Amino acid sequence: MLKLEKLNKSFNGHRVLDSISTTFPEHETTVILGPSGSGKSTLLRSLNLLERPESGLYRFDDELFDFAKGFSTKEVLKIRRKTEMVFQDYNLFPHLTVLKNITEGPIQVLHEKSDPAKKRAQELLKKVGLGDKAAVYPNQLSGGQAQRVAIARSLAMKPEYVLLDEPTSALDPELELEVLKVLRQLAQEKQSLIIVTHNMAFAREVAERVLFIENGHVLFDGSNQDFFNTKNKRIVDFISAMT
Ligand code: ADP
Ligand code: MG
Repeated sequence: MLKLEKLNKSFNGHRVLDSISTTFPEHETTVILGPSGSGKSTLLRSLNLLERPESGLYRFDDELFDFAKGFSTKEVLKIRRKTEMVFQDYNLFPHLTVLKNITEGPIQVLHEKSDPAKKRAQELLKKVGLGDKAAVYPNQLSGGQAQRVAIARSLAMKPEYVLLDEPTSALDPELELEVLKVLRQLAQEKQSLIIVTHNMAFAREVAERVLFIENGHVLFDGSNQDFFNTKNKRIVDFISAMT
């Protein structure tokens, strides 16, 4: 379980996250929604310690951390292993084959042996529908394929949570579908997912929990059903503008 309490983050004196408290249950899919600039990426990046809020508590299972006190290098590595981030623009290593993109982390960071790491990478490639792409380089992939490799790469690290920041917003609708299909499957397998997306139909289908933020405030934190049936005018307007 991942839990945040009273997270505050400012950029240049401008408050971007304002006392955010929420829990991301394990083995569930949480979708983070909200207008542009509302703080979604900052929140997601804080979970992975790519952003450092000035204050707030971070609880991971039985361990409690305090943003105000900071994190040791060891703690940062530990948290990053538990929370793999998938970026909008994939961030694959261009000079490595698809297979090596996936095995690099397990071998270098988790100290796995090469053969089992390769075997697992092949299995993950199959899972994301790219069993035949192990030997190619990222520039030979479509955006949808590259993002599926990035997802396979994140899974190879065996994280507790996979964090995805608008994973399909750089993709044409056709390519978006193949990525959403993979995410849908992961959600069904009970992989813990935290997804920032603007795709309302997908959010509605895959989210177990919805966190809606605006101007750094939590406006809604609850079940999918409650979110899509809310009477809150601001949220009703948002949903209808996005669909
Ligand atoms: P969202 O992902 O919901 O669009 P962000 O978390 O990216 O929102 O940004 C929230 C606010 O913080 C925006 O006003 C954005 O301009 C600002 N912001 C984000 N990152 C930085 C940064 N590195 N430096 C300064 N301002 C930033
Ligand atoms: Mg963003």
